[in-house]
Amino acid sequence: MGKPRYRRVLVKVSGEALMGDQPSGLHPPTLARIATDLAKTKKLGVQIAVVVGGGNFLRGAHFAESGIDRATADQMGMLATVMNALALEAAIEKAGVPARTLSAIRMPSVCEPYSRQRALKHLAAGRIVVLAGGTGNPYFTTDTGATLRAAELRCEAVFKATGVDGVYDADPKRNPKAKRFEKLSHDEALARDLKVMDASAFALAREAGLPIIVFSIREKGAISAAIRGEGKATTVAP
Ligand code: UDP
Repeated sequence: MGKPRYRRVLVKVSGEALMGDQPSGLHPPTLARIATDLAKTKKLGVQIAVVVGGGNFLRGAHFAESGIDRATADQMGMLATVMNALALEAAIEKAGVPARTLSAIRMPSVCEPYSRQRALKHLAAGRIVVLAGGTGNPYFTTDTGATLRAAELRCEAVFKATGVDGVYDADPKRNPKAKRFEKLSHDEALARDLKVMDASAFALAREAGLPIIVFSIREKGAISAAIRGEGKATTVAP
C-alpha cells in the first residue's frame, strides 16, 4: 500500500454519498463503508477534517421553491448536515478512530460549536473532525464550507467525493466520448467553464491556491486510494 502524500486534508462528503441507492436519508451500510475508509486513512498518519453535506435530506434552494423563505430553507439544510455529521461521527468511532462533530451553528447540547482552534486541537490529538453546518450562513453550500475550512485549517488539499471519477469535458452520463481530465489548473477549469464546485467555493479555492481532487466515492476504499494518489481522479491545482 502506497504511503499518503499528505499530512492534513479536508474530505468533502455530500449528503447524497450517504444515502447509498436509496432516494433519500441515510443508508447505514454505506455510512459504515465511508467511515471505515476514513478511519483507515487516518491510521495511515493523515489528519482528516470532513465536511458533510445535507442534500440527502434537504437543499435550501430547492425547498425554497415551495414558497418558504430562502434563508429559512437554508437553515433547515444546515440542520440536515448536522444529522449527517452525527451519524458519520458515530460510524467513525465504531470503526475505531475517535471523532468529534463541530458545528458552525451553535447547538452545544448536541455537539461542540466550531472554532478553528478547537478543530486544530482535535486534529493534533488524533481525532477526525466532522464539520457540520457548512459555513453557518444561508446562501452558501457545503462545498464553500469545505474550501473555507480547508483554507483556515491549512489543509493541503480538498478531496471532493462525488458520484463520478473526476472532471470531464462533457457529461459522461450523457456523452460516452466525454474525456476525463487528469490534471487542470484553476484558471483552465474556469476558462473551460467546468463545474468542479459551485462558483463561490471554486473562487475561494482558486484564491487560496488550494488543490481540489475530485474522485468517485462509489468504490470501497475510495478515500484512502485517492489520498494515496491511487485510482482515478482529477486534480485541480495551481
Ligand atoms: N447550507 C447553507 N449554508 C452553508 C452550507 C449549506 O445554507 O454554508 C444549506 C443549503 O440549503 C444547502 C444545504 O444546507 O442546500 C445542504 O448542503 P449542500 O447542498 O451543500 O449538501 P450536499 O449537496 O453536499 O449534500
